[in-house]
Amino acid sequence: MEFPKAADEAIEAFCRLPGIGRKTAQRLVQHLLKHDAFQAERFASSIADLHAKIHPCKQCYHITEKDRVLCAICDNPLRDKQQICVVEDFMDVFAIEQTRSFTGVYHVLYGTLSPISGIGPEKLKIAELFHRMLGMDGPIELIFATNPTLEGEATAMYIKEHMPAHIEVSFTRIAKGMPMGGDIDYADEITLGNALSARVHF
Ligand SMILES: [Zn+2]
Repeated sequence: MEFPKAADEAIEAFCRLPGIGRKTAQRLVQHLLKHDAFQAERFASSIADLHAKIHPCKQCYHITEKDRVLCAICDNPLRDKQQICVVEDFMDVFAIEQTRSFTGVYHVLYGTLSPISGIGPEKLKIAELFHRMLGMDGPIELIFATNPTLEGEATAMYIKEHMPAHIEVSFTRIAKGMPMGGDIDYADEITLGNALSARVHF
């Protein structure tokens, strides 16, 4: 017997999320149907509001409230604007902020270079990073906190090699305190804090 059309559509929608298989999707829809409509509506509207209420910071591309131009980090006069930590994903910003050991600012790339997946430099916020740095006075420290994977390393190397020549910049990399292939988003606060403070020249 088939599911009613609306239930089937909801199952399909859940299936498109990462880590959700068909069985899990069916259980989620079952849960929503067993409870009152209000719960399902609140769930739906919280998701619908994500794009309506959140957008990327104009400077670092971290996510922020739609009524702000800059995120709270870029907007904070106490943060050291000469220290830019380059991360793959905005979740990494939250992970590093948890350590409370970094007082600079960020630049979110939205991924890493991956020729196999067709992700070239134009798909990442690399040109935006160069443009941002061209508008600054030196010296700038660029701290690579991309994941310690082949793609993460290759992306850091690409940025270093393509940096416009007249920008006064030094390159550092967070220490290899984390397992190779590990995701900095999942590193514990102490490991990540240590990796940041023990950063090395790159
Ligand atoms: Zn920002």
